[in-house]
Amino acid sequence: MIPSTHRQVRLAARPAGYPRESDFRLVTSPVPEPGEREFLVRVIYLSLDPYMRGRMSDARSYVPAVVLGDVMEGGVVGEVLRSNHPGFSVGDVVEGRFGWQEYALSAGKGVRKIDPTIAPISTALGVLGMPGLTAYFGLLEVGQPKSGETVVVSAASGAVGGLVGQIAKLKGCRAVGLAGSDAKADYITRELGYDAGINYRTVPDLNAALQAACPSGVDVYFDNVGGRITETVSRHVNLFARFAVCGLMSQYNLTEPELAPRNERFVLTNRVRIQGFIVFDFAARYKEGLAQLTEWVGQGKLKYREDMVDGLERAPGALIGLLQGKNFGKVIVRVGPDPVGLRAPVPAARSGAEGRR
Ligand code: NDP
Repeated sequence: MIPSTHRQVRLAARPAGYPRESDFRLVTSPVPEPGEREFLVRVIYLSLDPYMRGRMSDARSYVPAVVLGDVMEGGVVGEVLRSNHPGFSVGDVVEGRFGWQEYALSAGKGVRKIDPTIAPISTALGVLGMPGLTAYFGLLEVGQPKSGETVVVSAASGAVGGLVGQIAKLKGCRAVGLAGSDAKADYITRELGYDAGINYRTVPDLNAALQAACPSGVDVYFDNVGGRITETVSRHVNLFARFAVCGLMSQYNLTEPELAPRNERFVLTNRVRIQGFIVFDFAARYKEGLAQLTEWVGQGKLKYREDMVDGLERAPGALIGLLQGKNFGKVIVRVGPDPVGLRAPVPAARSGAEGRR
């Protein structure tokens, strides 16, 4: 039975600094009826991602901000409940940008059908979705690691970083990860196969720790955080090192940007290439990336970790936590039940979904 109303999370205010719960509003709205060539989706899983902080702000960016009062944007996996669209049938599992709500209408643009027999459907938001593609293309195409080189990754236990180190290892590199707790640093070495993990928050001397972990210097830096950490890594670069600038976690919530890295000289003397990228630069090759990631997951070569949160009403708090490093793995909100029929057998390689009910 489809209810007549459902819940949505709308943007109530533009944050200054870290977002607060009051920047979001939980509202009840009518469940819409699909029109001609439209279908209705019941949301099962909502992905929470750092880029959402950018969408809450009206500063100029690579995509426009969410309009005040609109439903928050987000990637979703759901189930088609009603359809007037020839390409989508009732019961299809789909992934699309349906937003922070329990039901959504779609005309099919940018929507991908998910095969629920390949892996748990939530993976379409993580290892077999946008974060997986970010790790894959960002490391291999932008970082261009060669066998025997040293790859340093920041936010190394996260949705993207957890995969980057494993792909670096698959390519014959030394992988060194920076993470924000002892548990995260242990996890990346014990579970994911990183050669070294450094808790950058408590290590007495990050520079010395990097020196010890990267005895042959740094060839590729997969940068998820920017700021002081990037500046410290830059002291260890080899000639012709590559910086794949994926994200700037340490900067997103600052009201005044930090002036770092300050030692630009390292770029000149070491002929370093620093290149930013956005995952959709590789949109024409998503199929290839997903095929490779799916194969590695199936072979047990790529592990992943989900940080599962129950209930749409908890999404604002979980996003705030993600921006503060409180998450451990890919943050996913379970908005509605995932019927057993939509779930594949758990692959052996899976690190598992850690609930925070
Ligand atoms: P994560 O799962 O890695 O979560 C974010 C992590 O960032 C936190 O867990 C925390 O890890 C770390 N962090 C938070 N605050 C700080 C801080 N002040 N200083 C240093 N680290 C901090 O998120 P994702 O894997 O989804 O995203 C990782 C990065 O990739 C982000 O920068 C994101 O914007 C970027 N991204 C870029 C894309 C692109 O197309 N370019 C696409 C997708 C993601 P810890 O506790 O270890 O510090």
